[in-house]
Amino acid sequence: MTTLELEARLDNLLATAQEETANIDLFAPINVAEREECPICLIPLPIEEEENVFFPCCGKRLCTGCTLRSINDIIKNGTPKLQALVEQKCAFCRLPSMRNNNYTKPLKKQMKKKNPYAFLAMAQRYQDGEGVFQSYTKSLEMYIRSAELGNAEGFSMIGYYYMNGVLVEQDDSKALAFYEVSAKKGSVGAHKYLAKMETFKQVLSI
Ligand SMILES: [Zn+2]
Ligand SMILES: [Zn+2]
Repeated sequence: MTTLELEARLDNLLATAQEETANIDLFAPINVAEREECPICLIPLPIEEEENVFFPCCGKRLCTGCTLRSINDIIKNGTPKLQALVEQKCAFCRLPSMRNNNYTKPLKKQMKKKNPYAFLAMAQRYQDGEGVFQSYTKSLEMYIRSAELGNAEGFSMIGYYYMNGVLVEQDDSKALAFYEVSAKKGSVGAHKYLAKMETFKQVLSI
């Protein structure tokens, strides 16, 4: 994809998402009751995305509480902590899914099923070069796919690429527009980032 095609795709994604979220109040409290539940404890998943764990085996997100409980169960059987992390099975479907060498394969399966969290996880792996060759191009492509599937965090990460001018021309206003869509779609990280930027702006104008 050429830079022009990439920017056109991103402009189109932003315009559609802005239209979709036009009636959402950026400052309205996040509705916890409407959030997806952890399939084990049935409590709404934490609003901070980093407190949820995505398992590519079944494509489910679990709360850290349920994930840690399953590791602790292995430790209780006498397995050392480090070994328990390696042996860990998905707390929901019981498949071994956290091992580095078999993480990419189930992830690709979930991507075929159009699971937005699988694209997000794959994007992070490409960004960090974890289990795959490091590639910002592939990473951004995966973030775009996840955002196209409606994922709030995907929009935030595109904002990050614009803010830092990675693969796209640095553009503060486009970056903030992507963060705003992300916040309206429920990303707590995007809300915090926008608040921080607003504070900077006010401090600088004093
Ligand atoms: Zn849970
Ligand atoms: Zn699973």
